[in-house]
Amino acid sequence: MLGAFPLFCDDGGVVMKELLKILLELQSIEFSEAHPDNAEARLTELRGKVPPQILGHYDRLVARGKKGVAAVRHQTCTACHMSVPLGTVMTLRHGDDIQLCGNCGRYLYLDETPEPVVETPRKITRRRKTKQLTPA
Ligand SMILES: [Zn+2]
Repeated sequence: MLGAFPLFCDDGGVVMKELLKILLELQSIEFSEAHPDNAEARLTELRGKVPPQILGHYDRLVARGKKGVAAVRHQTCTACHMSVPLGTVMTLRHGDDIQLCGNCGRYLYLDETPEPVVETPRKITRRRKTKQLTPA
């Protein structure tokens, strides 16, 4: 693992983040119900920016009716709900490299949209919270 430390953080990060943005836009067009007139042209343009091997994997997922890109929230893949290794999350956070979910094989991106934070000024006591699902 130590030998795999990326040496191209600065530039690589931007590229990888761009790449994920492109894949996400691609996905949003391909999975959207509405097909605007320029969708085809936009798809072609976006596809042209993605390296063939990445596009190939993405296409294989889409061909199986899966979305090719999944968000990671709370260190969990939102597509298959399996936990994502911390190392993978860190790599995503740095934007060093593109990462696949080890379970479902989707491309991962970090969704760190802050959720409504419940402020707890008191001391945090470690108490196990049991989710209570009350049927409507
Ligand atoms: Zn997954």
